[in-house]
Amino acid sequence: MALVVQKYGGSSIGTPERILRVAQRVAETRRAGHDVVVVASAMGDTTDELLDLADRVSRVPGPRRELDMLLSSGERISNALLAIALTDLGVPACSLSGPQAGVFTTPEHGAARIVDVLPTRVRQELDRGQVVLVAGFQGLCKDTDDVTTLGRGGSDTTAVAIAGALRADVCEIYTDVDGVCTADPRVVPTARLLERVGYAEMLELAANGAKVLMPRSVEYARRHGVVLHVRSSFTDQPGTILADQEVEMEKTAITAIAHDRGTALLSVTGVPDDVLRPARVFRALADAGVEVDMPVHRASRGWVDLSCVVSRSAARTAVGALHAAADDIGFDAVACDQGVGKVSVVGAALTADVTATVYETFAALGVRIALFTTSELRLSALCGEDELDRSVRALHEVFELGAGDTGDQAVVYAGSGRGW
Ligand code: ASP
Ligand code: MG
Repeated sequence: MALVVQKYGGSSIGTPERILRVAQRVAETRRAGHDVVVVASAMGDTTDELLDLADRVSRVPGPRRELDMLLSSGERISNALLAIALTDLGVPACSLSGPQAGVFTTPEHGAARIVDVLPTRVRQELDRGQVVLVAGFQGLCKDTDDVTTLGRGGSDTTAVAIAGALRADVCEIYTDVDGVCTADPRVVPTARLLERVGYAEMLELAANGAKVLMPRSVEYARRHGVVLHVRSSFTDQPGTILADQEVEMEKTAITAIAHDRGTALLSVTGVPDDVLRPARVFRALADAGVEVDMPVHRASRGWVDLSCVVSRSAARTAVGALHAAADDIGFDAVACDQGVGKVSVVGAALTADVTATVYETFAALGVRIALFTTSELRLSALCGEDELDRSVRALHEVFELGAGDTGDQAVVYAGSGRGW
């Protein structure tokens, strides 16, 4: 008998029919003799719809505490419905909110981090023979005694944290694709399912646009040694196992091509080239909570030009933060190009030959590269957003990542556009 944590994404439980199907799957696992904890996201697009409702009753963004009270309700609805469906199937079940399940977080509303999981109540309910359903994406901050949410996609992190705290045998992440693929199958029809991926590569994929897992959940799983199993809630396909790289090395150097449409290129030009001022640019962005990627620092004749990639949703905040610090920084101009996309080649021990091949592929397509960076595990190029899809397809082909005629092509089931 094992202890299994199963996480279901919003598209897997988007309708009452899908909730019933998930309940059947949970019931089967339970009847096979396992202890089961389920973490479900909110149904379908509930979180977006709740945000939309808030927009319609206020001209300015609502108080963050209230937004968290509002958004956390989405996960309570879906988990309670699952518990109701399971009970009807004759499987004793009990749903718990994040705070009831002992998920404790930092105070930042909308971006809280899990600091501790005390699963006493979850254990009690398991010991009573119940399936326990935990509302994902939320917790309680002990200092403020308020409900918090973990940021978009946060249910993955809830599931991994609960699995870690319970020392579960496996944490299964159910989604609307068969597992982790060599590229987004919505963009690359020949994308192939990966049987195993190391945490490090998965972290790069997740951080660079592969929405199948929230990056923080991968990092959490790596640190706590939680074995993650990504699979489809629509089939019985074996899915993808995430485990330590040392245990299982990928055979080929390149694992997958990730892409990210939600990027913007931020440029700060004409910063006086003294030791203090460029640092103030990145401090202003960090203090405003803006994550930067692919930073480039170019110094010439007494001036420094800085550029970096930020997420499109943070572009306004980034520009605002720089203007607010304009006197301290003393730049000439700030520009933000929102028409860009990022394509990343992820693998192990990426060589100069890979860099050359990527440049040659872009050259053959006639696609201009706006920014380029490499690391041991990732090589990213920024290009026009409208060039993104064909760049991803070309790289996937050049590095021969496709399924060929083997028939193990990846399939997208729900078409939510949220995960691969
Ligand atoms: N419902 C939340 C979201 O849409 C959390 C999640 O799905 O993981 O971001
Ligand atoms: Mg998700």
